[in-house]
Amino acid sequence: MFGLIGHLTSLEHAQSVARELGYPEYADQGLDFWCSAPPQIVDNITVTSVTGQKIEGRYVESCFLPEMLATRRIKAATRKVINAMAHAQKHGIDITALGGFSSIIFENFNLQQIRQVRNVMLEFDRFTTGNTHTAYIICRQVEQASEQLGINLSEATVAVCGATGDIGSAVCRWLDARTDVAELLLIARNQERLQELQNELGRGKIVGLEEALPQADIIVWVASMPKGVEIDPTALKQPCLLVDGGYPKNLGTKVQHPGVTVLNGGIVEHSLDIDWRIMSIVNMDVPARQLFACFAESMLLEFEKWHTNFSWGRNRITIEKMEQIGSASVKHGFRPLLI
Ligand code: NDP
Repeated sequence: MFGLIGHLTSLEHAQSVARELGYPEYADQGLDFWCSAPPQIVDNITVTSVTGQKIEGRYVESCFLPEMLATRRIKAATRKVINAMAHAQKHGIDITALGGFSSIIFENFNLQQIRQVRNVMLEFDRFTTGNTHTAYIICRQVEQASEQLGINLSEATVAVCGATGDIGSAVCRWLDARTDVAELLLIARNQERLQELQNELGRGKIVGLEEALPQADIIVWVASMPKGVEIDPTALKQPCLLVDGGYPKNLGTKVQHPGVTVLNGGIVEHSLDIDWRIMSIVNMDVPARQLFACFAESMLLEFEKWHTNFSWGRNRITIEKMEQIGSASVKHGFRPLLI
């Protein structure tokens, strides 16, 4: 059985979902209430591969909200992730994806040190960040959507915002090695890590966001921002492709400008309907078929019976592993969301 640990994008989102699902007592509560709410399994899932294979899964709502980080409720945030992991393990789930901020919190606050959660001794090989599949899907989106828009990668400048992150660094590695992209712009805050990435790649310009935006034909947004940034679309090139892979979204407003195309990054479409309700709760356009690539990774690991922490730790994603999970993705009928 596979599992998905997820969370909602804001307190307001959580309150409206609680109302929709028939929990009015949750709907009127503030952040403190969510800080003390325990994890819950709220969805049972059946997925069928195009090979005919069927698997079962569970969605675990961690009750984490990005506002917990913004208001420095760090203890609550870390407890949400660890408790959700223990909950998944206790329910016998073999491989569980740590969706959205769950894996970021796990890494940033060194949660591998906490193994004992009440009577559960966490087994980390039952969990995956899902980032290898996410990075693979974002790269395929860049390659295929640029072609749809008539942007030639061999003449294109690609800016990666969040370049030093787990997903961002993997995207840079792939674009460098597997495409003939003309220029890479590397954006993040920590200069030392940017320098290390530039040394590893042997290329790429380190620039600030403001400087990068007007130069880029393609912008990949994979920064771990609890709240999206506002950008002025008139400052962008035309055509320009924005691939927003953040959860919550890195872009704060809906960009509506001729010549600027925004694509939901790190999203896959399955060839067959999935029996679940969770994707309508996170407002996916086609909830029966579209999902986060990190969630799809745990499904792929279950289909292939690779019950191991396929994506784990930071900045260790190799091109070979992206290709491995990528071929499983194609085999079972997932494809990158396009324009
Ligand atoms: P990491 O924490 O590994 O990396 C985040 C990157 O963003 C770092 O390079 C960080 O560098 C940079 N960053 C953070 N804040 C800012 C900022 N304000 N301005 C510029 N750069 C910034 O995160 P992941 O790679 O694991 O995840 C990235 C995003 O992808 C997240 O939003 C996550 O929720 C989403 N995601 C989506 C998935 C999907 O299936 N679609 C799956 C998994 C994750 P620095 O701190 O130096 O600025």
